[in-house]
Amino acid sequence: MLKKWFGRFFGTATLPSLYCPLCDSQPTAFLPLSAYYLEKWQQHGFPYAAAGEMTSLDTYSCPVCGASDRERLYALWIKQQIAEKTFSEGAKLIHFAPETCLSKQIRDLNFFDYASADLMMTEADHQIDITDMPFTNEQFDFFICSHVLEHVESDDAAISELYRILKKGGRGILMAPIVVGLEKTLEDITITDEAERWRLFGQDDHLRIYAHDDYVNKIKKQGFLVDQLDQNHFGASVFESLGLKPTSILYIVTKK
Ligand SMILES: [Zn+2]
Repeated sequence: MLKKWFGRFFGTATLPSLYCPLCDSQPTAFLPLSAYYLEKWQQHGFPYAAAGEMTSLDTYSCPVCGASDRERLYALWIKQQIAEKTFSEGAKLIHFAPETCLSKQIRDLNFFDYASADLMMTEADHQIDITDMPFTNEQFDFFICSHVLEHVESDDAAISELYRILKKGGRGILMAPIVVGLEKTLEDITITDEAERWRLFGQDDHLRIYAHDDYVNKIKKQGFLVDQLDQNHFGASVFESLGLKPTSILYIVTKK
């Protein structure tokens, strides 16, 4: 299964012109972000529709497996780490708010000791609050926490908990919506009006939208080292193959 997921092109110098590392397909085009969001942003006057650091409006999802642009980057990085043996087989992985396609692919790998967690999703292995988790200290080797922090009242408490449950030397994929060029994180947890949340934060269940420096500093404040893996790290041609915006950054956190 590991070999199958790694696909035909893994490890080769050049990827096909378009490639999805989750389903190993070579689509002729990636699909745009759902019109639902574009219409909502226009309706409510959200000014940062095109300014997301990562979310690509025109090459968002894979037409074969449905994976988003960010899922494609996570899958590529995870594959690279497994190939470079920076994860041990059986490493304990906790996946928050699990993306359907990525979650299935990782489970099918049978490489990690995998569990999923979410506050609302009944199909998750653990139904838990990320700001107050029932796990013991240093229980996990690796976590994936993507687009969760913008939903919780105390993102500091969530990051502190992520730090606590990770082993020393453990790593995490920690991602949230960031607006390129935004000077300060926009945040107001007292706003409950859905239209106002659409206008300010781009979604009716978002409490904030991050500025880059604020985001990185917030994570560092809880003790994490932060690696920012951008186009220079992966290569511009790899970003093009995966249909990623050139501004995309993968944030990998490490517990010292
Ligand atoms: Zn795919």
